Amino acid sequence: MAVPRAKELINEPSCGHKQKDKAACRKAPEPGSSSGGCAFDGATIALVPIADAAHLVHGPIACWGNAWGSRNSLSSGPSLYRTAFTTDLSENDIVMGGEEKLFRAILEIAGRYSPKALFVYLTCVPASTGEDIESVCKKASRKTGLPVIPVMAPGFVGSKVLGTRVAGDTLLRRVIGTREPKETTPFDIALIGEYNVSGELWDILPVFTKLGIRVLSKITGDGRFEEVATAHRAKLSVLICSNALINLAGGLEERYGIPFVEGSFFGLKETNGLLLRIVERLGDAALIEKTRAFTQAMTSQTLQTLEPIRKRLFGKRAVLYTGGVKSWSVISALKDLGMEVIATSTRKSTEQDIAKAKELLGDRGVLLTRASGGELLELVRTRGADMLIAGGRNQYVALKSRIPFLDVNQERMRGYAGYKGLIRLAKDVDRALANPVWRLVLEPAPWEAAVAGELAAEV
Ligand code: SF4
Repeated sequence: MAVPRAKELINEPSCGHKQKDKAACRKAPEPGSSSGGCAFDGATIALVPIADAAHLVHGPIACWGNAWGSRNSLSSGPSLYRTAFTTDLSENDIVMGGEEKLFRAILEIAGRYSPKALFVYLTCVPASTGEDIESVCKKASRKTGLPVIPVMAPGFVGSKVLGTRVAGDTLLRRVIGTREPKETTPFDIALIGEYNVSGELWDILPVFTKLGIRVLSKITGDGRFEEVATAHRAKLSVLICSNALINLAGGLEERYGIPFVEGSFFGLKETNGLLLRIVERLGDAALIEKTRAFTQAMTSQTLQTLEPIRKRLFGKRAVLYTGGVKSWSVISALKDLGMEVIATSTRKSTEQDIAKAKELLGDRGVLLTRASGGELLELVRTRGADMLIAGGRNQYVALKSRIPFLDVNQERMRGYAGYKGLIRLAKDVDRALANPVWRLVLEPAPWEAAVAGELAAEV
């Protein structure tokens, strides 16, 4: 079985990965990878934050166990999305077929939990035995009266990026346009690729409210099914740090004539730049003027708050190891804090991302395509870095080597987006560097000091 349109989704024309080497899109799947790897994982990353929907995984229980627990995507209301529903296919189901079990599971969830919709995720095993989950979903939808949406991204079809793209395609083809908003405004936008990790969205939404811009659809952090379904009425979509969902932004443009802008909310310069790009595309002169004044006021207010921390962080050097848009947007945020980034990773980055990262790093900066823990440590030592800023996977690589560390990936516990997020980032970097533990662990242990003393006495 193959994912319909998989080839087209890999070759998405708006994707900035080089056509000859679309490494992030084409990367071979990594079955069993515990924190990210397969297409199914990528699809859940994009869809599970829809908080009032039920998310049912049709497959062995281990698929669900792999994927979702470590992500910190928050909801301000329903918590149904946090319940991991699975058909838990066993050997018997594989031999006898699991379609009936899937049908019964959908009816049970609909009856017991009253979700606004059900997303049913196909995984490798039922895809290999050729189960027709689309027909099961149709039948169950007729019976329950709920939208029951198949997500055709079994792990073996490709990478996490491809899975996210399948999720975007699923929203475009099966969800968006199925509901109408109660009202529309001239400044309705859809936020795409913002997953509300550690509540980051809640630092951004008040900014839009102050400017008079309405976020009609949150896709999908702290999202609700109905609002996602109304995205076709947005005047503009804003694609945040997510090249993987560019097919959704492109699709909205193609189908409904909704233009899109891309950007990031990491750092002052990027936040201000993105806000101005948004209002310029919305095209209202008064709104543009208001946004200019607002960004200037917020810049001086934020810099004032940051002043004492920036003095301490000035000139500190970091190695950054994260992927995609974060490869440059976090550099920009760290530079806002007066720090120097000496290396960044370009994994999953597009050509535009790499060019931006190069420009921000300067001539002496190092671009890493892939580096092992040992190579990262070597770089920290040889280039005199003060800390490593990366994802959770590298946390213990740094800590065991007594190097200050900060997690900026999806497992992070605090939001770093927007003006408030930058202040939080500054505080966390400052705390990581100033932690008294570094002084203690870098001193010789008492027994080492004693041995050194004895040796000296013998001499
Ligand atoms: S979908 Fe396939 S590759 Fe992904 S976790 Fe399940 S079995 Fe593994």
